[in-house]
Amino acid sequence: MMYAMHISDIEKAKEYRPKEYIDALYKVGVIQGNSLIIRSSDLKRIWEEFQPERVDFITANRKDPNCCGKTNHNVSGSVPPKQYPSILTMAKNLAGSAGRAAKAVVSGDKLLRTDEEKQKCLDICQTNKCGFYDAEKARCIKCGCFSKFKTRLANEHCPLPVRLW
Ligand code: SF4
Repeated sequence: MMYAMHISDIEKAKEYRPKEYIDALYKVGVIQGNSLIIRSSDLKRIWEEFQPERVDFITANRKDPNCCGKTNHNVSGSVPPKQYPSILTMAKNLAGSAGRAAKAVVSGDKLLRTDEEKQKCLDICQTNKCGFYDAEKARCIKCGCFSKFKTRLANEHCPLPVRLW
């Protein structure tokens, strides 16, 4: 399977990920339009080699213009408090998701992930490497979505600046 990473996301990651990580991505990927296309096995190897510290994601979140600005992001690496996005933000996320699904239907693109693809995404959430997975509610604290539904939709992705899936 191949993954598409947005070049802009990779460029943003230069601010908080080691240069070696970025170089490794560009070395194995092929640029197509605005994306870097990478074989999933290569991506998995790179992720394992450059295991991000939870603090990376908290720092990334601070630089994210969509950051709530209220969460007590702290560089010690402790888990941020469970603070879901506002109802308005979640409504916007839902509208965006519905729009992307409708677009996929109209253009004949794939709408749903297979069980296997979905499980791979869900596994990433459930490991909670990002620090944003609320295991109690099975939801992503960053976007507020129910992970088992969001991972099913082929056009939906992890909301972090550098997507984990
Ligand atoms: S969608 Fe991304 S940020 Fe949210 S829980 Fe899953 S891996 Fe973490």
